[in-house]
Amino acid sequence: MTRTPLIAGNWKMNGDIPWTRELCTHLAKRSANWPALGGLRAEVAIFPPAVSLAAAAAALQGFPILLGAQNMHEAPSGAFTGEVSGPMLLTAGCQMVILGHSERRQFFGETDAGINRKALAALAVGLKPIVCVGESLDERESGRTHEVVERQLAGGLKGLTVADLKHVVIAYEPVWAIGTGKVATVQQAGDVHRFIRGWISKAHSPEAASRIRILYGGSVKADNAKELLADPDIDGALVGGASLDADQFDRIIRSVPLVS
Ligand code: PEP
Repeated sequence: MTRTPLIAGNWKMNGDIPWTRELCTHLAKRSANWPALGGLRAEVAIFPPAVSLAAAAAALQGFPILLGAQNMHEAPSGAFTGEVSGPMLLTAGCQMVILGHSERRQFFGETDAGINRKALAALAVGLKPIVCVGESLDERESGRTHEVVERQLAGGLKGLTVADLKHVVIAYEPVWAIGTGKVATVQQAGDVHRFIRGWISKAHSPEAASRIRILYGGSVKADNAKELLADPDIDGALVGGASLDADQFDRIIRSVPLVS
């Protein structure tokens, strides 16, 4: 099955609204060159801070760049001070939402069960979740990578149907590679991607496994993207730091293998 690659830019807590407008304008201009590459069939999405989403949506109108949020609350509304819900994200122009990023797990105590509730809530309102999984350095060094990723998948995807999984993206992001400049080798990333696909095949269905997109995230830059994206099981990238620079992000997008 051919999967449409996805290049997703996680801006984290960077950029105010004027800066957002500027970066979106730069990306929108560059997007004119993407179809000119002939076979480029990637989807591109950016994930600015919640306060900048509406400005980004306005700046990107009519351009082939999707919009998503970095987190959401599972309830549609209510007494949850400081939170943002799925229906609110939809009205801000989002199509996607990142869930369970390791920074949210690490700094905000997010659990697999909570991520699961958010994934179900996102799907219920029509937002596509990007569910993040990945091991710490200690877990990798003690040979527990597959065990940790399996636990995160089982918890995060609990109760999702095969139909739900059509709208889900998985991001494999080894924690030791995020923001550190230490990128996983193609062998390390490819191994975990194949493990994830195999797990989905067994736990859900072979069809869901062959259809689901699995992104790699962790210090992806313009100069390492091509090699990573050439692996047939790496269906795109979740890019942090390098997505804050229009040239770098554009070069990563152009690293997607072309359809012959
Ligand atoms: C991320 O934030 O998901 C990420 C992968 O960051 P970076 O590319 O900066 O390592």
